[in-house]
Amino acid sequence: MIPMVDLKRQYQSLKTEIDEAVADVLAQTQFILGPNVSALEKDVAAYHGLPHAIGVANGTDALLLALRACGVGPGDEVITTPFTFIATAEVVALVGARPVFVDIHPGNFNIDPAKIEAAVTPKTRAIIPVHLFGHPADVNPILDIARRHSLRVIEDCAQAFGATYSGKPVGAFGDAGCFSFFPSKNLGCYGDGGMIVTAADDIAEKVRMLRNHGSRERYYHADVGYNSRLDEIQAAILRVKLKRIDAMNEARRQNAQRYRQAIRRDDVIAPSEIPGCRHVYHQYTLRMRNRQKAADALTQAGIASAVYYPVPLHRQEAFLKLYPASPALAISETCAQEVLSLPMFPELTPDEIGRIADVINHAG
Ligand SMILES: *Cc1c(COP(=O)(O)O)cnc(C)c1O
Repeated sequence: MIPMVDLKRQYQSLKTEIDEAVADVLAQTQFILGPNVSALEKDVAAYHGLPHAIGVANGTDALLLALRACGVGPGDEVITTPFTFIATAEVVALVGARPVFVDIHPGNFNIDPAKIEAAVTPKTRAIIPVHLFGHPADVNPILDIARRHSLRVIEDCAQAFGATYSGKPVGAFGDAGCFSFFPSKNLGCYGDGGMIVTAADDIAEKVRMLRNHGSRERYYHADVGYNSRLDEIQAAILRVKLKRIDAMNEARRQNAQRYRQAIRRDDVIAPSEIPGCRHVYHQYTLRMRNRQKAADALTQAGIASAVYYPVPLHRQEAFLKLYPASPALAISETCAQEVLSLPMFPELTPDEIGRIADVINHAG
């Protein structure tokens, strides 16, 4: 059996260090907002060349708190992509604003900057580009549009820790960058976790307050906030993995290269890397007309595959209920029908990639 992601292999290779890190937390018994969270925040901020990183409970909360800290609320509109995990737009609805979906570019599955400006209205307050599957969204034109219309940019980096655009890591471009450390993400912990990075002192201050019940000083609450903190055990595990994130991303890139050479079918579109971008292949996602045949053949051979995502967000029941007159977004809808993601993780072997490619090549 080849799974989509094999977390056991990674744990085995890091076991001694991770077990020690967790044992230290248990011995110190400081479980919430202690030295591991502070140290991780410092290291993640430095990784991005930014002054601030704030640990939160998960990636969804990272987006939610970033929106709140940027002042997005009832009556506002937020432009984002429909081809993403629901959390990206869910948080917009949760703060009382409306997600406005703009179609994607077929080359990299990310929001198409050329289509954003037509969606800007006097109510637009922010843009949330997603660096989907580990490939950076086209950040420069997005920042240009945001500057011209005084919009905030909140990057959804949940699938792209360490991906770069013009040599700079994603998350360092907008007003805030939001990360998820869900176990299967390319930087994952052993439970839920998330982080916000920002250059802005006021956003950092606000997020720190919001994650802890809107309080700066204990039992004095300036705002209605959340209980949304990264815990010490998760932070300790992440500190072990953060040291290796570049090597792990590099291993994913090598695996992608092997897939690219081994899959030989004219009717399959392999993921590409736009010049100036460094893709970290959180997912290796093909496009093919008859994906079901390939998926069935993989299942037969004991190989996992997955469809990320089968329904674009403007077609999800949750949003159709709120906004029934949702316009068609052709490229997202076609991609939703044609994408197929293959197993991808740093420890995947060349032999396994060969076997997976063989099945795809012969699946008709
Ligand atoms: C995983 C993910 C999230 C949410 O992260 P959680 O930690 O699961 O809350 C948000 N956006 C995208 C694109 C994701 O893949």
